[in-house]
Amino acid sequence: MIQERIKNSLRDVHDFPKPGIVFKDITPILKDQKLCSEIVDEFVERLKHLEFDAIAGIESRGFLFGLMLANKLNKPFIPIRKAGKLPYKTIQQSYDLEYGSATIEIHADAFQEGQKILIHDDLLATGGTVEATSLLIQKMKGQIAGFSFLISLNFLNGEQKLNKFSKNNISLAS
Ligand code: IMP
Repeated sequence: MIQERIKNSLRDVHDFPKPGIVFKDITPILKDQKLCSEIVDEFVERLKHLEFDAIAGIESRGFLFGLMLANKLNKPFIPIRKAGKLPYKTIQQSYDLEYGSATIEIHADAFQEGQKILIHDDLLATGGTVEATSLLIQKMKGQIAGFSFLISLNFLNGEQKLNKFSKNNISLAS
């Protein structure tokens, strides 16, 4: 099962980025080209019946499979980046972190009003990042077609934050 192979390939890094956190490192997956191509195939299989116009990938690990998927599904790819990184005119959304806040941006011409956007990231934790991305897409008058993640950390209940935007939520492993 691909779920088991993804889980077995993840590396737990203790106390990163700060004490007490166990970070799920996906870089061992990236070294396994066979697994990477099977991951893309699995996403394609599970997304092929979903109607959407573009994939928005979240910086930076959401770019890795996000662009591959967009390409395979013949859709445009839209980068969502931390504030100050995108060169053209942007629309912003701020959100709360455990300590302080963060801001993400999208290019103002990333998609057309009314288009359906699939939001992709490597990992769903508390859901704060994806919730902010959904609000950003809505600010641009886009529709949320759904979400796709390589991994969801179910114990953090991030999914609850996403249901109000779309019930289409695909995770290959949890
Ligand atoms: P959330 O906003 O709490 O859901 O955190 C998700 C965001 O933080 C995603 O963009 C992830 O890439 C990143 N993230 C949080 N925890 C991890 C982890 O353990 N491994 C990899 N990325 C993580």
